[in-house]
Amino acid sequence: MELLTETPVPEEARAVKQEAHEFAQEYVAPNAAEYHERGEYPWEVLEAGMDAGLVAQDVSEEYGGRDFSLAETLAISEEFFRADAGIGLTLQLASFGTEILQQNGTEEQKEQYLRPVGENEMLTGMAVSEPETGSNLAGMQTTATKDGDEWVIDGEKYWIGNAVEADWLTVYAKTSDGEDRYGNYSLFIVPTDTDGYEAEHIPEKIGFCASKQGHIVFDDCRVPEANLIGVEGAGFYMLAEFFNYGRIAVGGHGVGLAAAAIEEAWDFVHDRESFGRTVNEFQSVQHELADMRTEFEAARSLVWRAAEHVSSGDHPGFWAAMAKVKATETARECAEKGMQLHGGRSVLSDRRISRVYRDVRIPVIYEGVNEVQRNLIYRQTPT
Ligand SMILES: Cc1cc2nc3c(=O)[nH]c(=O)nc-3n(C[C@H](O)[C@H](O)[C@H](O)COP(=O)(O)OP(=O)(O)OC[C@H]3O[C@@H](n4cnc5c(N)ncnc54)[C@H](O)[C@@H]3O)c2cc1C
Repeated sequence: MELLTETPVPEEARAVKQEAHEFAQEYVAPNAAEYHERGEYPWEVLEAGMDAGLVAQDVSEEYGGRDFSLAETLAISEEFFRADAGIGLTLQLASFGTEILQQNGTEEQKEQYLRPVGENEMLTGMAVSEPETGSNLAGMQTTATKDGDEWVIDGEKYWIGNAVEADWLTVYAKTSDGEDRYGNYSLFIVPTDTDGYEAEHIPEKIGFCASKQGHIVFDDCRVPEANLIGVEGAGFYMLAEFFNYGRIAVGGHGVGLAAAAIEEAWDFVHDRESFGRTVNEFQSVQHELADMRTEFEAARSLVWRAAEHVSSGDHPGFWAAMAKVKATETARECAEKGMQLHGGRSVLSDRRISRVYRDVRIPVIYEGVNEVQRNLIYRQTPT
């Protein structure tokens, strides 16, 4: 069964999709169970992904990458996440946040920080969420205060992918206290070896075990004033634009996970016997599989349609939020049905279906919880 068909992937993204497919089958799928169980950062797979030219290559060619389009990034997301969500996230987080630097940074910043990511010499990450809130972007408490020719960062960040592993992070911090709460935030390049930066891994998760998130404490963490990205006070708006792209990639996470659940359930019911026949012969089981497939195709079509809208700048916030909600919730529903169809074996922790079941809990949360996405869909509905 091949669920990640070439259509609806546009022609321009098909070659990269094939590269990602072959890489995922050779390096991600065979290692998924082991990395999930050990909960280790998949350095070897990450390095293989770099050698294959599939990591951090959304960076433009000018700065050492392959200039992957949104469609190419989405095609890769689907393939990686079908093979394994934890390893898939690690492969995709290597350049997380650099799109903002690419679009808003100075030449000097790009030479010093973007090029090494595109050339796979540095890892990065994006630090927005905090211990007290992840959803309220205009309520974050970490501050950056100007002191001479430096910015001084104080506060905490939580859930930050690559907080321990990265060479530098894009950090979202409060730089003023004005009435317009959306104009109070700015973004900074923060090298992780700066004095006053401390990060440790957060406790082990139920899913995505091969990706690592951290708790960061900034204590009088000083970076040069030249590390401000773009304009002071524009951080919230740069982030909102960045999330429109990110949520399409997360749509791909949902599609990939849903595909994994359907494949696994399909194979199981065609093999398992009950009452003298294979389980797939029961009509109610066929209906479950029919519903899973229908929802999968609906979600995948929406995600690819949304990718076109985001790429062309046509109501990007509205389309990106719909894609994220539909795909991640389809993955969750397909995993739930897939578990039921596995009977008792569903709860064996080494089964792929139970790994997928645990993983699907996570994309409905990250890049903005789905409740907040629904707020965006309503508020940004074109009328
Ligand atoms: C595996 C993983 C990786 C992550 N990686 C990163 C990363 O690299 N960088 C980063 O900055 N963050 C990252 N995050 C953090 C993630 O973005 C936040 O967890 C998410 O935004 C939710 O924030 P929260 O956990 O603080 O939940 P809260 O904001 O406390 O929300 C809790 C719940 O309250 C409800 N709720 C909250 N607000 C509303 C609302 N407006 N309307 C209706 N209901 C609401 C929802 O049910 C929500 O689930 C990651 C999280 C996970 C789990």
